[in-house]
Amino acid sequence: MEYILEDIKKSFCSKGYEVKIFESKEAAASYIESLFDGEIIGFGDSLTLEAMELNKRLSVKNTVIDPAVAPEGHFTETAKNALTTKYFFTSANAVTSDGIIVNLDGTGNRVAGSLFGHEKVFFVIGSNKITDTLEDAVSRVRNVAAPLNARRLKLKTPCAVKGDRCYDCSSPDRICNGLLIQYRKMNDIEMEIIIIDENLGL
Ligand code: SF4
Repeated sequence: MEYILEDIKKSFCSKGYEVKIFESKEAAASYIESLFDGEIIGFGDSLTLEAMELNKRLSVKNTVIDPAVAPEGHFTETAKNALTTKYFFTSANAVTSDGIIVNLDGTGNRVAGSLFGHEKVFFVIGSNKITDTLEDAVSRVRNVAAPLNARRLKLKTPCAVKGDRCYDCSSPDRICNGLLIQYRKMNDIEMEIIIIDENLGL
């Protein structure tokens, strides 16, 4: 389904979020770059942020704490440090056209950072993440995003091997432990949604 991004913007605005729409990841990255100078910025590990080369771009003038590029054995320490920054960037596994954000997480750093502890959280979201209903969003997260991610990470999970859906596995490699549904902006924290009219992330 083709979504009218201005309508989705209105949905998120009605739930307390600031919203910006961009036609390309380059335009969005330039906007984000213009916001910060000399700040410390935390990232949740995100393929969308990676595709935008946001770490590299923001690191010119700021300090970026990004668990996705932590040296081997330092993921947890880096992810913890990213939770205590003034600003936090993450994406979403799915969003509904009426403004609900859905994220599934294995370690919890991404969803923890998106809830509390920062002055402002930014969600950077490709238009491929938009679904009609909450049920569709949860299904997308569990049956599309997570299996693709498990396959990308070469994990030994049934979804990575078969590639068709979630098997609610008990694998030691399981990456789906917590599902967060954000119905509205959290209290006492600024949140901005940056929607990009491109396919970004899984
Ligand atoms: S619960 Fe297991 S099978 Fe389901 S998506 Fe997650 S890792 Fe794959």
